[in-house]
Amino acid sequence: MEKALQILKDVFGYDQFRDTQSSIIEHVLHKKDALVIMPTGGGKSLCYQIPALVQPNLTIVVSPLIALMNDQVNTLKQLGIEAEALHSNLDENTSRGIFELINNNRLKLLYVSPERLMSEGFVQYLAHQKIDLIAIDEAHCVSVWGNDFRPEYVKLGQLKTLFPDTPTIALTATADALTQEDIIKQLKLIDSQLFLSSFERKNILIKAQPGQQRIEQIIQFLTNKTDQCGIIYCLSRKNTESVSEKLRAKGFNSAAYHAGLNGDERSLIQRRFQDDEINIICATIAFGMGIDKSNIRFVIHYNLPKNIEGFYQEIGRAGRDGDDSESLLFYSWADRVNLQKFIDMNQARDSFKSVQSSKLERMWQFATSSNCRTNTILNYFGEYKSEPCGHCDNCLYPPPQIDGTTFTQMALSAIIRTKEKVGINMLIDILRGSYKQELVREGFDQIKTYGVGRDIDFLSWNHYLTQMINQGIIRLDISDYSRLKTTPLSKEVLQGKTVQLSEFKKEKQSPKVKTKKLDLLDENINQSILQKLKTWRANQAKTQKVPAYVIFHDKTLKGLAAIKADNIKTLLQVNGMGKVKYEKYSEELWALIQDN
Ligand code: ADP
Ligand code: ZN
Repeated sequence: MEKALQILKDVFGYDQFRDTQSSIIEHVLHKKDALVIMPTGGGKSLCYQIPALVQPNLTIVVSPLIALMNDQVNTLKQLGIEAEALHSNLDENTSRGIFELINNNRLKLLYVSPERLMSEGFVQYLAHQKIDLIAIDEAHCVSVWGNDFRPEYVKLGQLKTLFPDTPTIALTATADALTQEDIIKQLKLIDSQLFLSSFERKNILIKAQPGQQRIEQIIQFLTNKTDQCGIIYCLSRKNTESVSEKLRAKGFNSAAYHAGLNGDERSLIQRRFQDDEINIICATIAFGMGIDKSNIRFVIHYNLPKNIEGFYQEIGRAGRDGDDSESLLFYSWADRVNLQKFIDMNQARDSFKSVQSSKLERMWQFATSSNCRTNTILNYFGEYKSEPCGHCDNCLYPPPQIDGTTFTQMALSAIIRTKEKVGINMLIDILRGSYKQELVREGFDQIKTYGVGRDIDFLSWNHYLTQMINQGIIRLDISDYSRLKTTPLSKEVLQGKTVQLSEFKKEKQSPKVKTKKLDLLDENINQSILQKLKTWRANQAKTQKVPAYVIFHDKTLKGLAAIKADNIKTLLQVNGMGKVKYEKYSEELWALIQDN
């Protein structure tokens, strides 16, 4: 472990291990299997990279995405580590070079896709090499219970037979208890230990809002966020384009990204986003799996996600550098109904569908809940915590409870008088006394409750009705055009039983959450040095053909712009400055800082 700590300092430039990192590394160095569940940005990579450097032979890292592999390999090479990625997109020469390195025992880490690894011949070849460790990244992909099952992962179950003496470390950011068990079973891990880190992402502020007038709400959200990078996830390709279009019209620097674009367009957009040339990406969930950008400051879900696993993984792409970030979720019944339809139409087994439906149900409860959102997520993943997190909307501005009995009675009365034939939007129009053509044509302007709720705005009605549905007082009938119906509980309310509702709060600018370390307080950062450092980094990235954060993270640049250094060696104290990078860059950086 002494050696491991030395490598952490010298090679990676970090002072100490985080939470569980050191026990995981120790465990792996004792040649034992491990299942590591750690949130995105938690520092999973070091758990196998450091053992790889401590041990004499090769470490194999299975990873599902080429972009992710290349990124990791670039980052390692910057640190002076012999690492390569082997996948189907390589030319013959490059592959041959990699084999040569392996044959001469000169490679420390080999990243490889699961299908390439398990291909006939290759796996036999490796079985004759000395392999110290096998790391399986995104290990949830091996399980059908996970949220991203990949058939090509199943073959990895043979690894234990082929490499009986090599320990396996399986890592993922997303696995509920069922998936955890299944990973162990599928990969045939032996006496493995489970390392479960807290899933809490303290630097992410989590908020959810009803999905009405979303563009206006997003624009409000983006005030004071100019120059910040973020992702807006949409359910459909069409939406990615229309949202991006509307933001551009308002002067935001955004682009759409979806599977309908050709490969070149997609990689161009992805590259420009990574290089901070595009600030906002409006994307389907296809975007993000392959990117490892550390300074994403916000993630917005324009539509409700399918499940909490996916949601948490997506918002987890924000704030990997540890700086404050935000997540904003929009939810609507229309989204929910759509997602349910996708599930119903799926050809899969019924048991699978019912799991998917209940996951969607949990997602919905999360979105509409007035409890601490972090705790709801943590509880979902089996980490029980009850003290309020202090970085979600419900903790920061607890929604005041009001007596909603009269509102509920108004809604029920209108539902009954329209003979249970209207959906949410029409019901609200009736209550608010709208003159919409369709409403008048149906004669809904003639009923007794027409206009009784006009003092309450549309968004608030939507919020109240959602809660009435959640409380079982109103039923939304998915099998009948999402019309609203009464339930056994409706009668009790009509007879006078009281109803508590939480008040609706519109999107407000969020207060700054104080989590920053002392040395990185904004006032300590010399902005003009920071700008110069960024320009320098952009040039480096361009010449070396790697993403900017592979050179240095924002956090490291800020550290450099904040230290009061009287000699060049002080640069080594900055978070993220290892020896190799110091040797490569310190003189240029020093000159640049001194020149101010
Ligand atoms: P994950 O794979 O879990 O999403 P990474 O391994 O990419 O996370 O790590 C996230 C970031 O945290 C990286 O920039 C990494 O260099 C940094 N990091 C990891 N461990 C430490 C540590 N002990 N001290 C400081 N930074 C760390
Ligand atoms: Zn909270």
